[in-house]
Amino acid sequence: MSGETIFPALEPLLEKVSKPIQYVGGELNSTVKEWQVGGHGPGGEELTVRWALMYPDAYEVGVPNQGVMILYEVLNERPDALAERTYAVWPDMEALLREHGLPQFTVDGHRPVGDFDVFGLSFSTELGYTNMLTALDLAGIPLHSSERTDEHPLVIMGGHASFNPEPVADFVDAAIVGDGEEAVLAATDIIGEWKAQGRPGGRVEVLRRLAATGGVYVPAFYDVDYLPDGRIQRVVPTESGVPWRVDKHTVMDLDEWPYPKQPLVPLAESVHERMSVEIFRGCTRGCRFCQAGMITRPVRERSITGIGEMVEQGLQATGFEEVGLLSLSSADHSEIGDVAKGLADRYEGTNTGLSLPSTRVDAFNIDLANELTRNGRRSGLTFAPEGGSERIRKVINKMVTEEDLIRTVSAAYGAGWRQVKLYFMCGLPTETDEDVLQIAEVAKRVIETGREVAGHNDIRCTVSIGGFVPKPHTPFQWSPQLGAEQTDERLHKLRDAIRADKRYGRSIGFRYHDGRPGIVEGLLSRGDRRVGRVIEQVWRDGGRFDGWSEYFSYDRWMAAAEKAFEGTGVDVDWFTTREREEAEVLPWDHIDSGLDKEWLWQDWLDALDETEVEDCRWTPCFDCGVCPQMGTDIEIGPTGKQLLPLTVLGSGKESMVRS
Ligand code: SF4
Repeated sequence: MSGETIFPALEPLLEKVSKPIQYVGGELNSTVKEWQVGGHGPGGEELTVRWALMYPDAYEVGVPNQGVMILYEVLNERPDALAERTYAVWPDMEALLREHGLPQFTVDGHRPVGDFDVFGLSFSTELGYTNMLTALDLAGIPLHSSERTDEHPLVIMGGHASFNPEPVADFVDAAIVGDGEEAVLAATDIIGEWKAQGRPGGRVEVLRRLAATGGVYVPAFYDVDYLPDGRIQRVVPTESGVPWRVDKHTVMDLDEWPYPKQPLVPLAESVHERMSVEIFRGCTRGCRFCQAGMITRPVRERSITGIGEMVEQGLQATGFEEVGLLSLSSADHSEIGDVAKGLADRYEGTNTGLSLPSTRVDAFNIDLANELTRNGRRSGLTFAPEGGSERIRKVINKMVTEEDLIRTVSAAYGAGWRQVKLYFMCGLPTETDEDVLQIAEVAKRVIETGREVAGHNDIRCTVSIGGFVPKPHTPFQWSPQLGAEQTDERLHKLRDAIRADKRYGRSIGFRYHDGRPGIVEGLLSRGDRRVGRVIEQVWRDGGRFDGWSEYFSYDRWMAAAEKAFEGTGVDVDWFTTREREEAEVLPWDHIDSGLDKEWLWQDWLDALDETEVEDCRWTPCFDCGVCPQMGTDIEIGPTGKQLLPLTVLGSGKESMVRS
C-alpha cells in the first residue's frame, strides 16, 4: 500500500461539491508525515504503524472533537507512527467519488484510507454507524470483518458507543473501550511488533494479540447464544487466551496527558469556534440517565497548574479567542473558583473569553459567572434541570430543587443576563404527563422571577427538550423507553400549556425534537448483534448522516428493521420499549465498565422508589465498584496549588496572578 496522495484526481471535483474547503486539509497544527517515517527492518519489514482516524460525521462536527484530536496528536508524536484524519463525505461528494472511482481519503495527506494499517473510528453517538459503512465501502474495505484479508486495515472503534459494540460487531474488527490515549499507543506497539516480525499469522494473529491484553474487544472471538424467546443466553469467547470480559481503559493522571497541546484550527466553519481544555474527566453525581457520567468514573481532575499551562499553550498555538473549560459538569472542579479567577486575571484586557459549556444549577454561582464574563462576553446561560417535577428529579437522581433553580436564575437575571436556557428530557422512567407539564410551571416561574429582579420585562427563557434514551451501563439500562408517539403527545401537551398563558408565552422559547430519532438511537444503543442487519439494510437503502434531521428517515429504519428482523422473534419494540428483568443477560455485559451490575440494579430499584443517592465525592463510597477495580480513590482538591507562573496579559499589570 503506497499511501500516495489522490489529490490530483480529487482537486477537479472540489468545485462541484458543497463546502469544498472541508476536504482540503492543511489546518493550522495538522500534520502530514512521510509514509515510511518509521523506516524498515533488516529484512525490509515496514516499521511504521499508520492510523486513519475518523469521526464519522461531517467535517464541521468532527473536526473539533477532542477525542480524535488527542489521538491524532499522541500518535503523530511517535517517530514510528503516523495518523491522519478522515470525515464523512457529504452525499454529493460520495456520488462523485463513486463516479470517478476514487476512495475514501484522509484530509491531511489525501491518502486512501484503505492504505493505512488501522482505520480507527470514534463514535460518541450511535447515529454515525451508517456513515461508517459508507466510509468502509468507499475505502474498498469489505463491510463485514469476516470478509477482510491481510490487505485491509484493521477496523477499530472507540468512543462512548463502544461500551456496547454489539450492533456493529459484524463490521468492526475490534473495539477499544474507555480512554484512548494510552490504549492507542499500546495497540500501536502490538501492531508495530507484528509488522516488524513480518506479519505472522495475518490479521487473525494480530487481533489475537490485541484481544489477549484484556483491553481490546474482538467480536469475532465471541459467540452469542440466544434463548427461544429472543433474549441472550450467554456470550462466550471462542479463542483461548481471550477474556470473558473486556476491561475499559482509564487514564489515571490527566496531568501526564496534556493533550491536545496543539489544537487544530478548522479551515471551514465548525460547531465550536473555540479551544477546549478538559478540566476533569468522570463524574460522581450519579445522575441515573447519564451514560457518560457512569462510564467515565472515577473522577480525575486536572491540576490547576496543568489547566493554566494548557490554556496558555493552546491559545498560543491556535490564536483562538475563546477557551471552553470542558468536562461533564465543569463547575464541579474542586478549584473551579480559583481556576476561573486565575484565568480571568491572566487574560484581563485581552479578547480572550472563557466559558463553561456544562454547568449544573446547584454548582453555579454568580461570582464564578462574573469571572467568566469579566472580559466582556455575556452570552446566554444554560442549565439542565432535566426533569420538570421534583418527583422525577428524584427518580433520575438530579438533586436540584425548584428553589435551587429559581435562586440561580434569579442571581443570573439580577446580574444582567437576559437569556437563560433550560434543558429537560421527556420520556424518563416512571414519567407521567403531570411531570412534563410541570416544565411549563417552572418556565413561568423563571420568567416571573427574572422580571422581578431585573425590573423590566425584557427577559427570555428557552426550554429545550430532548427525548430520553436509556443507555447501557446505567441504572436505566433495564428501563422501557417511551414510544415515539407517546413522546410526541406529551410534548404537544407541554407546548400547548406554555403557549396558553399569554402573560409568559412569548417570553418562553420552546424547542423539541419529535420522538422518532430517539427510538432509532434506542435500538442502536441497547441492541445486540442482530441489529447489525438493520444498520446494513438502512445503509443499502440510502441511509446516511442519521444524526442530521434533513437526512434521517424514521420510515427507512422501520422498514429495514421489519425486513432484517423477519423470523427472529424480535423487533424494534422488543429492543426499545420493553422492560428488562434482573436476570437477563444484557448484550454489553461482557464489556466491563468497572460498574458493578448489582449496584446498578440496586440504583434502578432506588430510582423506582424515588430514593436519591448523594455525590460520592463528598460522602462515603456507595460501592459502585469502579474505584477498587481501578485501584484508586476519588480525587478531589483543593491541592493548594496556584495558577502560576503566569503573568497577567493585556492590562499592563506586572504582578503575578497570585498577588
Ligand atoms: S467506588 Fe465508591 S467512591 Fe468510587 S466512584 Fe464508586 S461509589 Fe464513588
